[in-house]
Amino acid sequence: MDFEAVIGLEVHVQLKTRTKIFCGCATDFGAEPNTRVCPVCLGYPGVLPVMNEEAIRKTILAGLMIGCDITRHSKWDRKNYFYPDMPKNYQISQYDLPLCLGGKVGAVGVTRIHLEEDVAKSFHFATNSGVDFNRAGTPLMEIVSEPDMRTPEDAFNYLTALKEILVTGGVSDCDMEKGQLRCDCNVSVRPVGQVTFGEKIEIKNMNSISGVKRALEYEIPRQINALKRGEKLQQETRRWDDDDGKTFLMRTKEYAHDYRYFPEPDLMPVVVDDTMLAEIRRQLPELPEARRHRFVAQYGLPDYDAGVLVANGALANFFEQAAGKNPKAAANWIMTVSEITTTPIQPEHITELVAAIDAGQISGKQGKDVFAEMLAAGKPPALIIKEKGLAQVSDTGAIEAFAEQAIAANPKSVADFRAGNKAALNALVGQVMKLSKGKANPQLVSSVLAKKLQGS
Ligand SMILES: [Zn+2]
Repeated sequence: MDFEAVIGLEVHVQLKTRTKIFCGCATDFGAEPNTRVCPVCLGYPGVLPVMNEEAIRKTILAGLMIGCDITRHSKWDRKNYFYPDMPKNYQISQYDLPLCLGGKVGAVGVTRIHLEEDVAKSFHFATNSGVDFNRAGTPLMEIVSEPDMRTPEDAFNYLTALKEILVTGGVSDCDMEKGQLRCDCNVSVRPVGQVTFGEKIEIKNMNSISGVKRALEYEIPRQINALKRGEKLQQETRRWDDDDGKTFLMRTKEYAHDYRYFPEPDLMPVVVDDTMLAEIRRQLPELPEARRHRFVAQYGLPDYDAGVLVANGALANFFEQAAGKNPKAAANWIMTVSEITTTPIQPEHITELVAAIDAGQISGKQGKDVFAEMLAAGKPPALIIKEKGLAQVSDTGAIEAFAEQAIAANPKSVADFRAGNKAALNALVGQVMKLSKGKANPQLVSSVLAKKLQGS
């Protein structure tokens, strides 16, 4: 019997706002523990949350980019649970009236997007544990997909596309190393042809896109093999261990939380009026897919190059500034830069490098040396060419003098060429290159020599 997997993803994304969702504390990453805190985000009794409008706007922008319907009247709910990372014993979230409903990323349906507060971060040491509240109250968007994916690659492609969209819109930096994008994965298996779903198994809190793919590559065969052995799967929550490359049981259904949601009494409902929606619509950026098509049409790039550049918004922006008269050549150089945000190279330096090669000022091979120096030192190509004395001699006067010397010194090659042996010209070009110490522009040498030999 053949089996197939059914995969749905819940993605948590930290929004790029200056301050937290219900207080004025900064959201900057990497500060000393518990220095970005106040009574609100520490969960003191008696405090009142104040909604951050920018977080609402960014969530709506994300919804519009994904093609969601924006809920004009949504509200906040309390999700009750106790855990040391949430000392007020509830998290403010959205239950039955999320901000965004429906939508699509590629072929995968998006069920809903809602907004909530991130919790604090726990650290476990040898003999004790610590909690850092700097993260508590960071605006967190939860994007829930439909169970439309069937393979680990589907999940990988969905997450990659989703990340591209959110980064492009400035909604989040989605820096996974900083925990700005985390993912829970629901996966079940069933015999091919069966319509009902198998027992849903949740893998919690993965923080890399490739980790999600690897976890599914482990988990799907695990479930299929269990069914093939005649075992029964049960609904459960598992944890992915990236080092071991395995998933582990965390808890079964009987230990599932009952969150006892109820409407949050301390916050007003969210009303999105026409004016606000129109303002956010005006901020809609060009989406990655549209940009890929434009790169092919406007710059004549191959699909592959357009895909590589657009996958990284910063790389694509850099390319647009550097494209110049020969976008394909500019793209070739840019695609070799691994860290575009920290590179010392300026976009206009790529334009200059391409122009220098295209004009025959330096050879393509010399271009590689110049580029290496640009990467290392951030100097403009013109300066490197000058410092290294790389400029090819394109001065016709100098080349003519060398050509005459070469013709005078090589009567046999001259005679061969005149007798119809075109290859004899190469020997003369070689002589001129030698006389110019390799700096003459070979194409120019060739045409000067040919002209001289044919003319006389
Ligand atoms: Zn605070």
